[in-house]
Amino acid sequence: MKVLKFGGTSVGSIKNIKRVKEIITDGDKKIVVLSAMSGTTNVLVGFSENIKAGLVNEALESMDELYAKYQVVIDELFEASELKQEVSNYVDQVFDYLKSLTSEKHNEFLYNKIVSQGELMSTYMFTKYLNQEGVNARLLPALGFMRIDKSNEPDDFYIKQNLQRIIDEALPAEIYITQGFICLDAYGNVANLQRGGSDYTATIIGAVVEADEVQIWTDIDGMHNNDPRFVENTHAISNLSFDEAAELAYFGAKILHPQTVMPAREANIPVRLKNTMDPESYGTLISQDTEGDGVKAIAAKDGITAIKIKSARMLQSHGFLKKVFEIFEKYETSIDMITTSEIAVSLTIDDASNLESIVEELEKFSTVEVDSQQTIVCLAGHSIVKHADTHKLFKVLKDIPVRMISYGGSNNNISLLVNTDDKITALKKLNSYVF
Ligand code: ASP
Ligand code: MG
Repeated sequence: MKVLKFGGTSVGSIKNIKRVKEIITDGDKKIVVLSAMSGTTNVLVGFSENIKAGLVNEALESMDELYAKYQVVIDELFEASELKQEVSNYVDQVFDYLKSLTSEKHNEFLYNKIVSQGELMSTYMFTKYLNQEGVNARLLPALGFMRIDKSNEPDDFYIKQNLQRIIDEALPAEIYITQGFICLDAYGNVANLQRGGSDYTATIIGAVVEADEVQIWTDIDGMHNNDPRFVENTHAISNLSFDEAAELAYFGAKILHPQTVMPAREANIPVRLKNTMDPESYGTLISQDTEGDGVKAIAAKDGITAIKIKSARMLQSHGFLKKVFEIFEKYETSIDMITTSEIAVSLTIDDASNLESIVEELEKFSTVEVDSQQTIVCLAGHSIVKHADTHKLFKVLKDIPVRMISYGGSNNNISLLVNTDDKITALKKLNSYVF
């Protein structure tokens, strides 16, 4: 069995929905995970923000706009008027529900309920469309099996048991459709796997059903060796190891949700990145095999805050880092990069929501400097720290100020911290030095 995930653009237009149908109807049994139609989740997030800000009219207007788009799709996708009506009724219900939420008090639960609606609509509509086209497809409600535990990790045992039960109870089908992104939390509330989380849904499912392969279908032909938005002439990388792909996804490669690789690596299930707009192209295969030497790809992650913690007490003493780390632990803030000298330590975080409290506590025993608007530029490749050509990347030091360098943490990754303003120069220069 294979698990195929299709992103927002793949289900975002009539043309693409038809393409997806062609791709998945090859006679093999499979589970298909869908995102919301492109743009939908962003609109729903905006809707939630408007409710939070008390802007009810704006919120309602945004729903009317989004609703109009769905009406067009329904009108073009479905033929029989009865079916059109049935799908319209479902979508009407969703929008009525969403609009009714404008009178509720805003909190995280409300946000989660709101953003879950995109995937519910896309999967419902797509399943109905496949049925219209004579495909034996069935909808498996993700909220019936997908659950995270108290530490927001997938509850594999629960997922396996319940997914199996739901498949057994459903009538046999060639294609099972389910929602990406959405899940229940440990207490049974609607939750999600964070923005872009449909990829993660696919590998979680892939691991529990022991799939032969997980395919992530997007609108680009695989993971590129540099960010195609900023650098010209990038190309798709044919093969990546789980480790290389995980580093790239975590450090900014937009094509994959950062946690996606984890379940696949644990269960040793290959993940193939494919392009819905060009199904023949090879894409990127992520597996346990490592192929090729040297730097394979460069990615960048914005929104990083660097914190320098200086203390004379650090000199020849022990336990200093422990004290520092305990503070970050207390505020559940994870540290990405770290470099140390004998009297200071610099580290980076991407979640600055508790920055003030963290700094306050650090200042009790050290001097603290904070730099926001930083970007981590990550270079990944098998054993790059040992590769004969890797030193070339350090030429970038003459082009831009580099705030931190992390080398040797793993063999497959070298990270540089730069001002976000210097990101594009850094990506371009590194591209010319290492490729
Ligand atoms: N629809 C969700 C988002 O836009 C999840 C996903 O597409 O992966 O973030
Ligand atoms: Mg995505």
